[in-house]
Amino acid sequence: MTAMDPPSLPLQLPLGEASPGPIAADLGQLGDDCRRCRRCGLADGRTHVVVSRGNPAARLMVIGEGPGAQEDATGQPFVGRAGQLLDQMLASVAIDSNRDAYICNVVKCRPPGNRKPTALEIEACRPWLEQQIRLVDPAVILLAGASALEGVLGIKGGITRLRGQWRRGEREPLAGRWLMPILHPSYLLRNPSRQQGSPKWLTWHDLQDVRRRLDQLEEPRQPVS
Ligand code: SF4
Repeated sequence: MTAMDPPSLPLQLPLGEASPGPIAADLGQLGDDCRRCRRCGLADGRTHVVVSRGNPAARLMVIGEGPGAQEDATGQPFVGRAGQLLDQMLASVAIDSNRDAYICNVVKCRPPGNRKPTALEIEACRPWLEQQIRLVDPAVILLAGASALEGVLGIKGGITRLRGQWRRGEREPLAGRWLMPILHPSYLLRNPSRQQGSPKWLTWHDLQDVRRRLDQLEEPRQPVS
């Protein structure tokens, strides 16, 4: 463990235990399974099931809340204004969102009126997210916003206090992975100031820390003498 490493924290949620769900052999089958899914009421109002975009081989996964209007219309996550801001902020730390990241949400269907997904909807969709994590196998996971924090770590509230803090997953499918909650880009659009200490400024610093973590993970191991 280095000085940069925080202590491991137990996860609040028994991922993989609450909702068995079907198991996909690969991401292609997972996408097909998601598109047929009617495990919760969000299926009734969707245009598209929004599974992912980006690179399934990336070391970085970004998990957001759920599809908005443009995502529902296109079938792609984070393509509206919030997604464009996410892309810009990742690019500012040399992360190309389509080449260097795999992007998805805790729920794959649009909640009506862009409301937050309920705990039951998050629970119903969790098997798909768990399988995405297992199949993509990211080293670093960013939890964008309060719903992602709740859906992945089972922590309700506290995103502004917990943002920027590294956690190390202990249970499958998070075991050994680095996780960091960050503010959701939609929140940053509502708080556009770039002044020191502003939400945008803090997020940029969080993403710089993510860049350092990725660089550290990619450093070749030193031979043991
Ligand atoms: S939100 Fe998830 S669980 Fe609900 S219908 Fe869509 S894919 Fe299925």
